[in-house]
Parts: sequence; C-alpha cells; structure tokens
Amino acid sequence: MKKHNFYAGPAILPQSVMEQASQATKELDGCGLSILEISHRSKEFAAVMEEIISSTRELLDINDDYEVLFLTGGASSQFYMTAMNLLPSNGKACYVDTGAWSTKALKEAKLFGDVQVLASSKDKNYTYIPKDYSIPADATYLHLTSNNTIFGTAYHAWPETNVPFVCDMSSDIFSRPIEMEKFGVIYAGAQKNLGPAGVTLAIVRKDMLNKVDRMIPTMLDYNTHIKKQSTFNTPPAFPIYVSMLTMRWLKENGGVAAMQMKNEEKAAILYKEIDDNPLFEGSAAKEDRSLMNVTFLLKDSDLESAFLDACTEANCIGVKGHRSVGGFRASIYNAMPKESVQVLVDVMKEFGKNFG
Ligand SMILES: *Cc1c(COP(=O)(O)O)cnc(C)c1O
Repeated sequence: MKKHNFYAGPAILPQSVMEQASQATKELDGCGLSILEISHRSKEFAAVMEEIISSTRELLDINDDYEVLFLTGGASSQFYMTAMNLLPSNGKACYVDTGAWSTKALKEAKLFGDVQVLASSKDKNYTYIPKDYSIPADATYLHLTSNNTIFGTAYHAWPETNVPFVCDMSSDIFSRPIEMEKFGVIYAGAQKNLGPAGVTLAIVRKDMLNKVDRMIPTMLDYNTHIKKQSTFNTPPAFPIYVSMLTMRWLKENGGVAAMQMKNEEKAAILYKEIDDNPLFEGSAAKEDRSLMNVTFLLKDSDLESAFLDACTEANCIGVKGHRSVGGFRASIYNAMPKESVQVLVDVMKEFGKNFG
C-alpha cells in the first residue's frame, strides 16, 4: 500500500508524475528508446531541456535578464559556486544565518572573500527568522535561505534593501510566487519540491556575473553552463525529465499561485491541530512558520515513540524530527495531498484522546 510520505527529502512527488516517469524509463514518447539510455545530444532530449527551461520561466515569471540552468552537485555545490562566481576578492557578501544550511553556505563563501553574518537565530536554536538588522548598501549580495527545512521556519516577508538576494530555495521553490526582481541568484536542489535527487536548478541574473577576477574551473563557472544551455557535460537526463513532468503538473494545477493557496490550506489544518491539541506544541515562532516543513513537539517527550508508532500504524511515514530539533517534522510539499495531511491530523486527534 502506498504510504503518506512526510519525508523532508528526497520527498513526495505527484503520483501522476511518477507514473509518467516510469513509462518513460521503458520508452520516451514513442521514440524507441528509454529516457535512461537516450543521448543528451538527441532531438528528444533537446526538447526536454527546452521545455523545462521555458516552464521554469513561465512558472516563476522570469525575464530575459536571467538564465535558467540545470546543474549537478546539489544545493551544497551552490554554496561555493555562488560565492566563487559572484563575490570579488575585495567585495563583501552578507549572510543571514537561519539554520544548518545557511551555516554551511556561509562557511563556503568565506573561502572567497569577506563574509558578514548580519543576523543569526542560533541563540534560540533557529526557531525564528531574524528581522531587525541593517544591510550594508555596498554588499555584493545578501544570502538568504527562504525555507529552513530542518527547523520549520520560512520568510514571509523579504528584507527591505536594494542589495540583490542570493537565495537557497531548495525546500520551497515553486511553492509560492516570488518577486523575481529582488533576486540575483536562486538555487534549489530538486529533491524536495521538484524531482528526484541529482539535478539542481540555478536561476542567475546575468548582471551578477563577470565581476570577479579569480580563475574559476570550467565546470564551476556559470558562464560555461549558460553558453552550453546546461549541456556542457552529460546532464542528469532522468532527474531533469522528471522535474519537467512536475512542472507540467504544476501548470495543469494552476501554477505557483494555486500551489500557495493549497499549501496554506494544508499547513493551516496541521498547525491548528498542533495549537489546539494540548499534548503538542509547535517548535517554530508562529509568524515564521514554514508551509513546507511543519515542526512540532510532544510536551511530554516520553510519549514520542508511542506517537511515532501511531503514525506508522496509519501509514504516515517520515514524521520523526531532525536530530538537531527533536520531536516531529511533517514535510508537506506541493505534491502532498490535503487528504494525507488530514490522516496525520486524525492520528494526532486520536493520540490526544488516548493519552490526554
Ligand atoms: C536539502 C537542502 C540542501 C542540501 O541540498 P543537496 O542537494 O543535498 O546539496 C540545501 N539547502 C536546503 C534549504 C535544503 O533543504
């Protein structure tokens, strides 16, 4: 039986996408070859690449000032690629430290220039998004993590500044509309809200580039991938194909504005139960709660294993919290149906009756 997949990543994908992907592993659109064996120089794969780029542009309303790239190495490689490509050795990069992923990003940036950490929520184990800090107007960029997958916080308002954002959107890309003009670079590993692991989306505003004088290895230079339309070397064809299917699904389902409404609705049901049920409490500050990763605790931690057992019994899988937060985390990405969220809420209600 298919389980309700609350894992943080790799994560749930739309069922219809997995069925189409499975079909394409047998034969891609009647071309006589599987997506797994097709040449990345074939006209069939060129069409896939063209469609995924134009769908990304359409879904996020991206104009020609930006390039859309599909890279390898995960979001973790973007931690250093962004700084290596954007930060002049005499420049200054600003970071807001909102969790483990931000911390890793700024560690890499320090290899390439001056890094200022403007604010951090480490003092309260990253349970909130810092808001009161000033942003130096001469910074090359301000790095943000839009959704903190581990801690369950997210930006619901962007900092006020003219400094372009470099943003890790790995766990909330395509979950809501964004004001593109604020962003110099957006990157996202696919495996949370887009496709299988193995491909990373990078959206790069062209005027951010070519301001550094360091030598950059060919594979790590955004210009290389821009010039070759993300096929400088062999791209990960299957993750790209599946991500393209997810984008078709997004478009058929009303795009990112409709996703946002659905995501708000799903998150609201779950947070309501967390707030109403006397056994549970949310772990993130209310105003900063993520719509993608819902983190919560049992006030009596001795009941944790009994609750996880109840989840397992109801086929809800992946609810255990990250070790650095404890408690529970329900990841409810775009593809998570409202019905599955309701199943988890029912488990919590029932648990409340039995143990309250
Ligand atoms: C999962 C995650 C990453 C790491 O992604 P990889 O593709 O595994 O390198 C980085 N940032 C955020 C916000 C994530 O959720």
